[in-house]
Amino acid sequence: MWPVLQTLQQLDAFSHLAKLQVNGSPCVLAKRGGFPVGFPPLSGMKVYINGKFYSEQNAKVSVFDHGLLYGDGVFEGIRAYHGRVFKLKEHIDRLFCSARAILLDLPMTHAELMEATIETCRRNKLNDGYIRLVVTRGAGTLGLNPNRCSNPQVIIIAGKIQLYPPSLYKKGMEIVTVATTRNHHNAVNPAIKSLNYLNNIMAKIEANIAGYEEAIMLNAEGYVAECTGDNIFILKGSRMFTPPLSSGALHGITRGTAIDLVTDLGVLTSEPNLTRYDLYNADECFLTGTGAEIVPVVKIDQRVIGNGKPGPVTKKVVKAYKELTKVSGERIAKR
Ligand code: PMP
Repeated sequence: MWPVLQTLQQLDAFSHLAKLQVNGSPCVLAKRGGFPVGFPPLSGMKVYINGKFYSEQNAKVSVFDHGLLYGDGVFEGIRAYHGRVFKLKEHIDRLFCSARAILLDLPMTHAELMEATIETCRRNKLNDGYIRLVVTRGAGTLGLNPNRCSNPQVIIIAGKIQLYPPSLYKKGMEIVTVATTRNHHNAVNPAIKSLNYLNNIMAKIEANIAGYEEAIMLNAEGYVAECTGDNIFILKGSRMFTPPLSSGALHGITRGTAIDLVTDLGVLTSEPNLTRYDLYNADECFLTGTGAEIVPVVKIDQRVIGNGKPGPVTKKVVKAYKELTKVSGERIAKR
């Protein structure tokens, strides 16, 4: 029996499992690294929709919403640590950039969106967790014309997330390159954090089928773009490298933080086009993402990176990131 996924939190809780159709019904292929199998129970969560709070059961949008019908909308994945929302301003800045790129007028100001996000954490008594901020195009007709959509829906969900088991952060991850090419920037620019994630999902499915959690996506020219839900960094000698945004990498907030943190460690980052050869010959490699945080990578397409263990610079970045999340961010508690 395949249970119905009721919240994004539950979807995320299952993202580590490979799912395939067997005799027409979905089946769970793999359980990895001590992950619990099953869905977190409904938790009394309060979901924000357009200025009001609803229980999980009553948090609903129209089936005519173009966010559902066409993936027409934008979103952010944000984290809270120790009673503070980490890099909130940067996330809302990026939300505005994504919305502008798809000509979606956000119905709230930057300050209002920040406050609504913090208030959602308060209502859910969330000090540490994951926040999903979604703005859909709103309900329209069955045609795809966005002009027929009236009210963008602003949805904020504050819950928990654990993308990977703790052991994976200690041992490091093995990843593979997949055949699905990152969207061309003249088709759907990967810089837009849109609700249309099929490109990433197709790549993730390939990774899962191959038995991996995460995959490297190349762009149409064959250069490394990013992973399905994370940016990628390599260290070679005394320099750090990460693909340029023009390669099809998301302007990751954690990417920016990692660049700052390695700079503080005296390591400069540059952003040239990278090939798989560059990755295979790296001394160290790690992934960055709000949900995943900093993930050491120890094998790429079966090539061992460095000595096959998380490298010293990677470990320092992981530590520095953890320290930063303890002291930085917008306070959730009212002063
Ligand atoms: N690339 C993609 C495709 C993503 O979805 C994400 C966010 N999960 C990232 C990179 C990392 O971005 P951020 O550090 O802002 O979370």
